[in-house]
Amino acid sequence: MEKIISVETNGPEQTMLVAEKLAKTTGKGVVFTLRGDLGAGKTHFVKGFVKGLGCDSLVTSPTFTLLNVYDGGRVPVYHFDMYRLSSLDEAKELGFDEYFDLSSLDGIVMVEWPENVEGLITCPHIEIEIKKIDNERRKITIGSVK
Ligand code: ADP
Ligand code: MG
Repeated sequence: MEKIISVETNGPEQTMLVAEKLAKTTGKGVVFTLRGDLGAGKTHFVKGFVKGLGCDSLVTSPTFTLLNVYDGGRVPVYHFDMYRLSSLDEAKELGFDEYFDLSSLDGIVMVEWPENVEGLITCPHIEIEIKKIDNERRKITIGSVK
């Protein structure tokens, strides 16, 4: 990852605000990976991002379904959570590898736990890394991966 910027947030609302602002300058054909421990704030980041696209859908972790789609905003968001993925085959059955042809991607892809689909995200993407400093503070690093 080549670092672009890092920012510290104090509370989930601030993390959502960072994501909301980023969303305003993002269009279709962009892939984001979200790294960080359980409870770091990855899903809150997606929540803010989806809000920034003007979509008021409820954003929750697709822990069991693996994929949620939020359609109501300027661009659709495909939100994956690979935490419970049992094999790369399961991801392929879901059609996961078809999201990374950026020229035909009609929305924005956001992937929690990309560690579990290592090797399947073949296109350039933006990596969001969230580190817990204490209960309310997080260090968010945004970078690009070619
Ligand atoms: P993840 O998807 O990484 O497992 P969630 O977004 O589901 O994490 O949960 C993050 C938890 O951390 C929430 O309970 C949220 O209220 C809390 N939290 C506290 N401070 C922050 C912060 N600065 N940014 C994001 N979440 C925070
Ligand atoms: Mg989550």
